[in-house]
Amino acid sequence: MIKAIKGFNDILPEQAAKWLRLEKILAEVLARYGYEHIRLPIVEQTDLFARAIGGATDIVEKEMYSFIDKSEPPTPLTLRPEGTAGAVRAVIEHNLLRGDAPKLWYIGPMFRYERPQKGRYRQFHQLGVESFGSALPDADAELIAMTYLMWQMLGLKDEMQLQLNSLGESDERHAYRDALVSYLTDKQDQLDEDSKRRLSTNPLRILDSKEASTQALLADAPKLADFLSDESTAHFEQVKAYLDELGIKYEINPHLVRGLDYYNKTVFEWVTDKLGSQATVCAGGRYDGLIGQLKSMNTDKPAKSEPGVGFAMGLERLLLLIEAVAPFDDVAACDVFVVAHPDVYSAGVRFAQNLRYDRADLRIKMGGATSLKAQMKKADKSGARLTVIIAQQELDEQTISIKNMQTGEQQTVEQQWLSSTDNFSI
Ligand code: ATP
Ligand code: MG
Repeated sequence: MIKAIKGFNDILPEQAAKWLRLEKILAEVLARYGYEHIRLPIVEQTDLFARAIGGATDIVEKEMYSFIDKSEPPTPLTLRPEGTAGAVRAVIEHNLLRGDAPKLWYIGPMFRYERPQKGRYRQFHQLGVESFGSALPDADAELIAMTYLMWQMLGLKDEMQLQLNSLGESDERHAYRDALVSYLTDKQDQLDEDSKRRLSTNPLRILDSKEASTQALLADAPKLADFLSDESTAHFEQVKAYLDELGIKYEINPHLVRGLDYYNKTVFEWVTDKLGSQATVCAGGRYDGLIGQLKSMNTDKPAKSEPGVGFAMGLERLLLLIEAVAPFDDVAACDVFVVAHPDVYSAGVRFAQNLRYDRADLRIKMGGATSLKAQMKKADKSGARLTVIIAQQELDEQTISIKNMQTGEQQTVEQQWLSSTDNFSI
């Protein structure tokens, strides 16, 4: 028997109903902030990700699903491992920044070749947000405030801790990198294997090493904050001031560096202690150089950049957290089940059709023109709160019989009875 590929999951109906519920709540919050939805391809040129995310990152080094397609000349393509690169590509390609500052969101599958475990899959889903055109710290704070409102709407605000850091600008990071490398070079035999390798490829990533011995070494290492310019420091202070104003608590994590190279200035993560080592539910930051960097891919000349800031949240992790601390109430697929005698089944079909037209809030199911007994059995299983029964007598009298599925009580009422929300509201 052919099975699904490891790390690629089916989302079965019971679970999928929760996804729809979650997506609706998140989309509603995005609408409150005036963010616009965008839909982007799942496949892009490999070069786009290599250039945007950075060659010495985990994603580009070992996690991408890349292949060569059949076009002439053959093009190296990659299943998107994240959404920012594609969103920036689209914004440049369609000139969306001309005279505008688009605030965009997208949702969909991402692909990374990782070791599958709880909260970590090879196909997973992100909701991503990108806010373009403003270099000001209120843009950073707005994104964080929006995620905070999402946690509030989901009953999760006390489960999430906000971690913040500033990465400054690239020249500031360069100076810091040199200082960090010279501090660690003498001590490299005390570093874990990964960090030793990163000392020459991506030294800043050593800061978020999970190894206790490496973390101990870092205690006396130079601090990135000491290398930031006055401008970067002031920007970070203003982001914090907005959060203070909004009463959103945060913790400064000087070792938060993020696994993608495009970030500058503010970076942030929302973490929880309820999901083991897959603790980060949402992560993002500013990327003021990325647009210029991707524009110059075509020209190989430096191009003018435009500021941007964004985040992505992992929807599987978010659902695991919801399940653990604030599960959705039963997401029943049915409110009203319509049963009709097989001789007058078409009258039942017409009734259900009219009711669906009148009552957008009700989920109305039928079970097929079989015996009344078989239909009643399906009604029992459906989770419906009411079953409507129509037979010849009801048809003659222009009535319906209604069975309350919780109490078993049955009554006969006018056909229009269910059209009004006063009589049956969910
Ligand atoms: P991690 O450190 O857990 O590998 P990351 O830094 O690689 O995460 P990002 O690239 O920042 O993750 O992606 C944003 C969010 O997407 C993460 O915080 C997480 O919630 C989710 N995510 C990332 N990779 C996976 C995955 N393989 N499976 C499920 N969710 C993921
Ligand atoms: Mg990762």
